[in-house]
Amino acid sequence: MPSRQNKKDMKLNAKIPSGPLAEKWSTYKSTQHLVNPANKRKFDIIVVGTGLAGASAAASLGELGFKVKNFCYQDSPRRAHSIAAQGGINAAKNYQNDGDSVYRLFYDTIKGGDYRSREANVYRLAEVSNRIIDQCVGQGVPFARDYGGYLDNRSFGGALVSRTFYARGQTGQQLLLGAYGALNRQIAAGNVKMYTRTEMMDIVVIDGVARGIISRNLETGALEAHFGHAVVLATGGYGNVYFLSTNAMGSNASAAWKAYKRGAFFANPAFVQIHPTCIPVHGASQSKLTLMSESLRNDGRIWVPKEKEDAEKIRAGKLKPTDLPDEKRDYYLERRYPAFGNLVPRDVASRAAKERCDAGFGVGSGQAVYLDFKDSINRLGQKVIEERYGNLFQMYEKIVDENPYKTPMMIYPAIHYAMGGLWVDYELQTTVPGLFAIGEANFSDHGANRLGASALMQGLADGYFVLPYTIQNYLAGQLNVPRMDPAAKPEFKNALDAVRSDIDKLMNIKGKRTVDSLHKDLGLIMWDHVGMGRNKVGLEAGIKKIREVRETFWQDVRIPGTAAGMNIELEKANRVADFLELGELLAQDALHREESCGGHFREEHQMDDGEARRNDEKFKYVGAWEYKGPGKADELHKEHLDYEFIEVKTRNYKE
Ligand SMILES: Cc1cc2nc3c(=O)[nH]c(=O)nc-3n(C[C@H](O)[C@H](O)[C@H](O)COP(=O)(O)OP(=O)(O)OC[C@H]3O[C@@H](n4cnc5c(N)ncnc54)[C@H](O)[C@@H]3O)c2cc1C
Repeated sequence: MPSRQNKKDMKLNAKIPSGPLAEKWSTYKSTQHLVNPANKRKFDIIVVGTGLAGASAAASLGELGFKVKNFCYQDSPRRAHSIAAQGGINAAKNYQNDGDSVYRLFYDTIKGGDYRSREANVYRLAEVSNRIIDQCVGQGVPFARDYGGYLDNRSFGGALVSRTFYARGQTGQQLLLGAYGALNRQIAAGNVKMYTRTEMMDIVVIDGVARGIISRNLETGALEAHFGHAVVLATGGYGNVYFLSTNAMGSNASAAWKAYKRGAFFANPAFVQIHPTCIPVHGASQSKLTLMSESLRNDGRIWVPKEKEDAEKIRAGKLKPTDLPDEKRDYYLERRYPAFGNLVPRDVASRAAKERCDAGFGVGSGQAVYLDFKDSINRLGQKVIEERYGNLFQMYEKIVDENPYKTPMMIYPAIHYAMGGLWVDYELQTTVPGLFAIGEANFSDHGANRLGASALMQGLADGYFVLPYTIQNYLAGQLNVPRMDPAAKPEFKNALDAVRSDIDKLMNIKGKRTVDSLHKDLGLIMWDHVGMGRNKVGLEAGIKKIREVRETFWQDVRIPGTAAGMNIELEKANRVADFLELGELLAQDALHREESCGGHFREEHQMDDGEARRNDEKFKYVGAWEYKGPGKADELHKEHLDYEFIEVKTRNYKE
């Protein structure tokens, strides 16, 4: 397999096939090593995660004939966080005939990510996007259809075409039911063994190669060792390091973090996405934020009052938004970005909302802007809006107790998605041989900012169409490795003992602080110091504060109950302990990256008009961190990004 070795860092070989961009993936597939059908059943593959990435991978690997062990901490694979995805999934089908193509999807994704992702990976993603839709339709996923019966599309941010396939505001749920059906077929066939309510606690590495995991049964507390010829992490993103986020309450970073400590590099941790349209924070005891899908920006217009006095009156309840005539409203995205208007990418829309609120034009608590459907209801009628977004409007009304058909929604940016994650090469393999990462858990194809509806596309591309090929290239070289009995291998026993001792350590602290209160402290520091606007002074102060909370955690956390049997506080404590370390790496990455790009906005690096100032000369690389041991500084490795097929430009959504 021809490959291009990274010039600068010998530890990072992205293994990008040579040749023209559009032929790289087919070249790879036609020259990779395969495992013959009779040998496939000799291989055990561990897949941790049953979201769209994990379920699609486990089902596809099972279908190929591999023996798969699939883990999730929920009581059913189908409760994975992916089920919450609302708006849609991108593909370059061009059903709308509005000028879309594989190249345009590739181009929009690279540009949307602010030129911080790999060309070859992103092109492959765009290339397989169309097959995802075919696969899901084959599974019976009920995508919305237009009047002629064709699959319907809507627009998402950062694109001038309509390429987003959707099932009302429940696209993730429908896609996950499709993948879950495929997974169940393989469970019934005996190729996939499902372990629910089972949390991966560590990776077992033998002679530098991933050979299995240690798990904890969340109902009995029992620790177990599992062997695999390869281990795949599909464990989702780390947005909950901020405590308040749109992620499911259980979403966590522990699997990726354990992998990091076992030698897998962690890439671009500072690249997190702040979504512009979430229901604003409304109280100190809140533990979750709710997303209002980006799809709403197709028909909703974002505004704040033009005059500060009007904003003050609205905040004081003396003026209703519906009483403010159009000429007194500032549709600031349409004003600032005429070409893309309300459909600018998320990072741009989030910063613009913050800018207006910081300048005193915010509504509600002052930290909110309006998303208004008045014009589209007048144009299309309420029924059409109901058909498109009915469940989202219902959800908003339940939470806020206001009817969004009658009065505009209030929204504000919130933490939503992690572009950073485990570093993987073109084959989705981490720096630990035999350890793969897919879906949101890897540093993915989204650079410094993910475009809406591209996470589902990437998770399913990885699981259905990429990993099932690339993992074979690795496994073909493992034919002489017999199945191992974990009980007979000291590495498994050592890892198991280490997990047990970590749990004992936590249980024995017997302090006074609840896990949630410490997680909340961490979250506030992250939001204030490593949030939408970052600067050197704030980041340095933030790192100091994170260390203080970490110290308090290890001295004063209280976990009631015992480690035997179900103990939700212990589950949370295990995860928060890792967030407290990851939070520092995230801040450190943000501190070293002296530029603004995508979701990473360094206040020192902006243009006169407040737009981000990228520094391609110094920072056109993936920053991959290596764990060097307790108390030692993490080491930064750089994967330099070469753009051979696309011209690197300053992002422009104005014209
Ligand atoms: C509210 C919301 C709406 C969204 N809407 C969209 C959208 O419309 N379009 C779009 O493209 N993207 C959307 N996204 C993003 C998208 O949903 C996620 O990026 C994607 O679903 C992640 O899928 P995943 O398979 O990588 O991980 P997840 O779905 O998070 O699954 C993680 C899996 O890993 C398991 N797991 C984790 N850790 C462990 C462990 N230690 N041991 C055992 N199991 C473990 C979990 O049990 C779970 O099964 C949305 C996100 C949110 C929060």
